[in-house]
Amino acid sequence: MNTPILNPATGEVLTAVEPVSRVGTDAAIAAAAAAFESWRNTAASDRALLLRRFAAAVDADTENLAALEVANAGHTISSARWEAGNVRDVLAYFAGAPERHTGAQIPVAGGIDITFHEPLGVVGVIVPWNFPMPIAAWGFAPALAAGNTVVLKPAELTPLTALRLGELALEAGIPEGVFQVLPGKGSVIGARFVTHPAVRKVVFTGSTEVGRQIMAGCSEQIKRLTLELGGKSANIVFDDVDLPAVAAAAPAGAFDNAGQDCCARSRVLVQATVFDRFLELLEPGISALEVGDPAQESTRMGPLISAAQRDRVAGFVQETEVAFRGKAPDGPGFWFPPTVLIPQRDSRALREEIFGPVLAVVPFRDEADAVRLANDSAYGLSGSIWTSDIGRALRVARGVEAGNLSVNSHSSVRYATPFGGFKQSGLGRELGPDALDAFTETKNVFISTGR
Ligand code: NAD
Repeated sequence: MNTPILNPATGEVLTAVEPVSRVGTDAAIAAAAAAFESWRNTAASDRALLLRRFAAAVDADTENLAALEVANAGHTISSARWEAGNVRDVLAYFAGAPERHTGAQIPVAGGIDITFHEPLGVVGVIVPWNFPMPIAAWGFAPALAAGNTVVLKPAELTPLTALRLGELALEAGIPEGVFQVLPGKGSVIGARFVTHPAVRKVVFTGSTEVGRQIMAGCSEQIKRLTLELGGKSANIVFDDVDLPAVAAAAPAGAFDNAGQDCCARSRVLVQATVFDRFLELLEPGISALEVGDPAQESTRMGPLISAAQRDRVAGFVQETEVAFRGKAPDGPGFWFPPTVLIPQRDSRALREEIFGPVLAVVPFRDEADAVRLANDSAYGLSGSIWTSDIGRALRVARGVEAGNLSVNSHSSVRYATPFGGFKQSGLGRELGPDALDAFTETKNVFISTGR
């Protein structure tokens, strides 16, 4: 039976998508395995050319892809355009990789020693619903560049842009079987990526709970695995900053994609000396945030992805003291207003990933207390440090256990820099200059010179 795909801003059915079955998944994996030999043997320069053409096809389709994401995921139009542009840029960046992915020549006695980066085979990429386009591309672009073939499973709720990317790849000349998109259930398609012996690597982005199951499953075949999981990132604000500017920036750091962002700075830790003043300065920014129709250019925040997600977020808010809230539309669609909490240090709202437009603000005493509080989490994905003392910024950045930190900024992800988590936020890194190493095995070959 086809799965209805909803518009989260209205709750209406947009279309219906036929889910791929277990048999269909096996057939796609077999096609990917069959396409592997010729793709890995395609000259690096030709693979690069095809990836550049794929990037150009995405670029030409930006408005269409963005409109699909506005409708299917409720992303604001400005974010959705950025996301399509990110897919283009990630493809263009990794198009430069095949011809530069050189091995080493190592001095040894009795001969010559050289290394090769061999592709793995079929790579299964499993994507969540929060950023359907970029997260898919961070997996498939370096995997393809390294000479692997890819089967991609989008989230059940948000398959439309991934399906379109599959069409664009074929239009760009990527051969049949090299990049396939399989919409449907995680428990069927994603689980089969884990158990099928021809899938040599799984790239999973999603919840820590499902990531744990996938890691256990991959251990059966010692299958290569990258995990990008949950987060509870801290935004640490010291008292030596331009407080009005930092308070004005905090909502954007937490409420991008309505807070459904693994890098959301969902905890704001504020030095006690300026805590009350920070809250006073934050409030106008929260009440002025434009929440509404994501297709409107002026909208800053859209809906949550589903009714279930809205109920989950509401559960956290019911348990905790609300400091203040912004506005959200009434009526159909899965809306939730931007909300600021002042929780106790042991509160669930301060420890668990809420994945909605909810900001928890807590005071800290000094630098050591800030680092302790930031690290008091099972997660370690992202975070920000705001201070005018560069020495302190570096000390705190070294002390916080997280993979992606920014000083006096909320930026987390750049395609040219490594991205990934400490602790239960994940395993391995995506993007950046070394990404192809995660999609290849190093082979060492010694050639005797005979004496
Ligand atoms: P989820 O774990 O429920 O699902 C993610 C994907 O896994 C979906 O495609 C789903 O169909 C599939 N899946 C579900 N069960 C599976 C199984 N048993 N075997 C194989 N695949 C299965 O996560 P979600 O609710 O879609 O996404 C939200 C989560 O993703 C949040 O925790 C968020 O922090 C995390 N996330 C992390 C990053 C990062 O880079 N660290 C980025 C975005 C989202």
